[in-house]
Amino acid sequence: MIVVMKPDATEAQISHVRDHISSLGLQPQVIVGEHQTVIAAIGQERPGLVEALEPAEGVVKVLPIMAPYKRASSELKTERTVVRAGSLEVGGKRIGVIAGPCSVESEEQIVSITRKLKELGATGLRGGAYKPRTSPYSFQGHKVDGLKMLATARAETGLAIVTEVMAPEHVPVVAEYADVLQIGARNMQNYQLLQAVGDSGKPAFLKRGMSATMEEFLLAAEYILDRGNENVMLCERGIRAFEDHTRFTLPLASVPYLQMKTHLPVVVDPSHGTGKAALVPAMARAAIAAGADGLMVEVHDDPEHAMSDGAQTITPEAFAKMMAECRRVAEAVDRIL
Ligand code: PEP
Ligand code: MN
Repeated sequence: MIVVMKPDATEAQISHVRDHISSLGLQPQVIVGEHQTVIAAIGQERPGLVEALEPAEGVVKVLPIMAPYKRASSELKTERTVVRAGSLEVGGKRIGVIAGPCSVESEEQIVSITRKLKELGATGLRGGAYKPRTSPYSFQGHKVDGLKMLATARAETGLAIVTEVMAPEHVPVVAEYADVLQIGARNMQNYQLLQAVGDSGKPAFLKRGMSATMEEFLLAAEYILDRGNENVMLCERGIRAFEDHTRFTLPLASVPYLQMKTHLPVVVDPSHGTGKAALVPAMARAAIAAGADGLMVEVHDDPEHAMSDGAQTITPEAFAKMMAECRRVAEAVDRIL
């Protein structure tokens, strides 16, 4: 930790900060520069130190050296994490492709689309049984019945299930059926849910909150990791910006940025990221070019009649074409799809 003092900080202010650093169990080292003095605080960084040191008179700012997300950070664990859940592997050389409808609508629907997706190279099945909808009047999902339909689709195809859990009290039942527990953008900072998913021991698929910074995103992952659950995938799904030509704005720079900061695998969701089916394949290709470890894509046999998110949902035909294009990009960046 580095404490930067104001250029006109007095001797008394500098020695006050030095003594405060010592009282916090750290070793202060005063570095007197030509214009400014900085004080290095040597020792284990921990939460609360910045807040303790910043209010002192004469201090400009306090700069931590280590990331606050210890378990998610690549500073301490450099080896990349590979998350495995049945047919799905994310974080290795092979790119994971989680595809399926926004919502599970019926057993026939989910079984029929899953067969096609498996055939076309998807390695995981998505589908919401518990749906976080903006309006309380919109379809909220088939809940436990939806989970059972997903389990039937898995039994028929072998594809691992990735599905959302919205509340801590639903974690046991969702974990009974799902292979991966999805935490949605709207719940990224539901800390009790993060802890419950951590405790479940099931791999977690954490979506970025639509207004979350990268640090908040990684600290959310830290909640899951801190419960001893190391299988966490991060998903960039777009953020709120001033743009209105797309539903959200999909910042693909977060892929290489996250891969610099964390060992956890990074997935991109171009469906929610754009909100428009016509834009999904290009952004899927771009995500792979940017180094994404996986894709999450909404696919439906009849997007026009989908019970949710039809506008951003592609058909199996479009998915087939997208996969063929993505394979060529994957090869160019030394990945397999
Ligand atoms: C979803 O995956 O269908 C979903 C609701 O996503 P998000 O949480 O990113 O909006
Ligand atoms: Mn959706």
